[in-house]
Amino acid sequence: MMYTRAPQPITFPETLRPDARLLIRGGRVVDPAHGVDAVKDLAIADGRVQEVADAILPERGDRIIDAAGLLVIPGLIDLHCHFHDLFDVSTMPATEVVAHGTTVALTPGAGNTLMAPALLGAEVDRGLPLHVGCYIGAAAVLSTRASPEQLIAYFRGELPDSTRLQVISRNPITNATGSLAVGLKDHMGHWILSDEDLETCFAITQQTGMLFMSHCQDPEHAERLAEASRGRRVLLTHATAAGLARDHQGVTVDFTTAHLRRSRGLRDGILIDPRAQVTARDAIAGGRCRLLTSDGPCNATMKGFGDARENIPCLLELAEEGVVPLPDAVAMMTINPVRFAAEATGQRWWTQELGHLGAGARASAVLVEPHAQRAVMTLVEGRIAAFEGRCIRSAHGAGGWVSRTGLRPRVGVGDLPLYKT
Ligand SMILES: [Zn+2]
Repeated sequence: MMYTRAPQPITFPETLRPDARLLIRGGRVVDPAHGVDAVKDLAIADGRVQEVADAILPERGDRIIDAAGLLVIPGLIDLHCHFHDLFDVSTMPATEVVAHGTTVALTPGAGNTLMAPALLGAEVDRGLPLHVGCYIGAAAVLSTRASPEQLIAYFRGELPDSTRLQVISRNPITNATGSLAVGLKDHMGHWILSDEDLETCFAITQQTGMLFMSHCQDPEHAERLAEASRGRRVLLTHATAAGLARDHQGVTVDFTTAHLRRSRGLRDGILIDPRAQVTARDAIAGGRCRLLTSDGPCNATMKGFGDARENIPCLLELAEEGVVPLPDAVAMMTINPVRFAAEATGQRWWTQELGHLGAGARASAVLVEPHAQRAVMTLVEGRIAAFEGRCIRSAHGAGGWVSRTGLRPRVGVGDLPLYKT
């Protein structure tokens, strides 16, 4: 006999426990929601921010990260990141964007189907390293047998199951998960909505607290949407310079990070005209645009105008080039998007839990090496989700589902039994 007793499991010192308190020390903390821009320590415990202070004394068992020379910013919130959209068959974009600092991503369309929350929700249940949510394509919503009133009830989660099976879908999972969508998406490249359908979209989104976003690189389309909004809220995403020509109440615009970069981006999306870039940067400097989005994951078939790899370099360049101070640039992908979502949905949880580093916030943060313009480490729910450009696989499952009313750790469709006895 080689062994006389079973091998004993290795016991690690307390400091290596993955659930021990995490201290990020000596980084330049930029937390625009709280007016913080200074070298500070950040303590994270139980997935939440415990405190940010000038100096936090380590306690026995703390894990410590030396962040000297790094920026420490809230995790990036991307209101427009094409996950699992048309043609994408890989879950890799989720792991890639987290390596570039994205901690919350809302995907427009996700195939433009009412099944989007069920399909993407299953990925959440299987374990994603970041929080995700989705918009549903307006054409899919408007093509059902449901009346506008029934659609409103459906997205409120109030339409009876028997009715849903008659007017929404024959798939009970689709019916049960549709109300988890964060918003509706319009896109003039996929379809042109009639005036009546556009009006239905405004009615649904206004009365259910959903976001309404339309792609608007086409100036005429942007004008049409602005006119149709009549003061109601709409997000005109990746705005054209022309789309900013007039102020419209209720209209919010965002720009794509790739378009604002010195290099005008990685050349994988659509190259912005240099004159339009000047106008866009002027709009940011003048406070007329306070949101930035990637409009694209990293290596994916479904590219929009941009790429999540452009986000952090863009924020740094806007500050370096004096367009806005660094905290204002960081705010455009942290606290500003959650403020927008909180107003559109009438829900306060967004700003309480996301987009900042105040005590009690969900502990999502990015450590940024400013000279290399890249994320060194991304934390999601206090877990190290990515390090040195790679996703940490043990962080799969750190992400949850973003609904209008809150962040759910699970959707409940990723592990449904195939057969029931
Ligand atoms: Zn897009």
